[in-house]
Amino acid sequence: MTANIQTSRPNSLSARDAAYHFHGYTNALRNEQDGGFVVMRGDGPFIYTEEGKEYFDGLAGLWCASLGFGPQPRLVAAAKKQMETLPFYHTFTQKVASPVVELAEKLVSLAPVPMSKAYFCNSGSEANDTALKMIWYLNNALGRPEKKKVIARVKAYHGVTVAAASLTGLPALHNEFDLPIARILRTDCPHYYRFGEKGETEEAFATRCADNLEKLILAEGPDTIAALFAEPVQGAGGVIIPAKTYWEKITKVLKTYDVLLVADEVICGFGRTGNWWGTQTFGLQPDIITTAKQLSAGQLPIAAILINQRVFEALRDNSNKLGGFAHGLTYSGHPVSSAVALETIKIYEDERIIDHVRSIAPHFEREMNAFVDHPLVGDVRKVGLVGAIELVKDKSSHESFDPKLAVGPTLVKFAHEHGLIIRPVIDSLCFCPPLISTTAQVSEMFGRFSRALKDTHEWLK
Ligand code: PLP
Repeated sequence: MTANIQTSRPNSLSARDAAYHFHGYTNALRNEQDGGFVVMRGDGPFIYTEEGKEYFDGLAGLWCASLGFGPQPRLVAAAKKQMETLPFYHTFTQKVASPVVELAEKLVSLAPVPMSKAYFCNSGSEANDTALKMIWYLNNALGRPEKKKVIARVKAYHGVTVAAASLTGLPALHNEFDLPIARILRTDCPHYYRFGEKGETEEAFATRCADNLEKLILAEGPDTIAALFAEPVQGAGGVIIPAKTYWEKITKVLKTYDVLLVADEVICGFGRTGNWWGTQTFGLQPDIITTAKQLSAGQLPIAAILINQRVFEALRDNSNKLGGFAHGLTYSGHPVSSAVALETIKIYEDERIIDHVRSIAPHFEREMNAFVDHPLVGDVRKVGLVGAIELVKDKSSHESFDPKLAVGPTLVKFAHEHGLIIRPVIDSLCFCPPLISTTAQVSEMFGRFSRALKDTHEWLK
């Protein structure tokens, strides 16, 4: 098969990408035929291709580029300084590099609920896999070997490694990969617009979600249920803002049956919802928090797990009994990533990034609400600087389009033509611009979206 791009521009980076690179989350045949979309540089929320075309990246890359895509002199300096001082050290057998100590201290001080220690990984997936292993280890340590099942929700996204993908509640991550693994249970997605029943109030829907969780725990046996993994706002499942009163009701159930809560703050952490943590915005009471992405503004790979004193004590005592916690990654607490993460947090503080998000959020909301009356728009959901617009066939019944029509992905293609990158989750279009975006830039993003929506409307006629 001859790739167009290879024949038209045989030595371009795009053609070489087609020839040599196997991408994640990509149709490999299409990439081989069309070549990769090569990004050369960035400036604020904009990126530029090999040909110099500008795009607004409405998803901050992968929900992570909080400071945008332009170079950050402070992060460059922090990385350079660490690379010139100590480019690598590890955290096994009590060793540690200085920025790792400082970052751990900083994260514990920033935690939304009292936390005791930070553990480092390189990605959100690794953090969730590690959190799960900690929970299993902990229940062995506490003499509760049966208390090992974990619950996650429909439409959850917790990553792609074997355990994290199993926790994820999206069939595409299971089908063909022989997942999920055993001992993973599924509970409701708290999306009132989609799963609320006719005549049911939002609060009654939240009660039903909590009742169903309780029923599941009782049916399986509370002594077998270790934890619930949950994102404060479900991101990659389509930016699902929990129904009103959901978290207080869920928390009550978890406390009743001694079920730990792991808050996956990989997207929400560091200002996305208008507070440092989604936990604060929605009133979660987690025992463990996983975080990544905006922790380093997406600029170097790093993730952290925060654990409370109760969790730490069980891990500590068992590690003492066994001679060590037999888990760790070569790059757990990488000094350069840690130095960059530490400096990222200092930038958030110095630039008052949370205040900025709060000041921009009402404008983001107004821009999104302007689409509410559009004939294709069903649900418009948002908090802080993250949101989604869900397209529907029938506004009054909420009926979705036939997935074969690929309405969401088609809109994304039109958006691409208008210089906007956004993510479709079926027919929900997700928005998560860099936190540093200005009001004018937010308007620019929705202006491009509006043109794509118009094209989609025409195309459907
Ligand atoms: N958890 C959440 C909420 C995420 O959104 C993601 C990635 O999008 C992950 C975990 C996985 O993180 P990573 O891609 O760094 O493994």
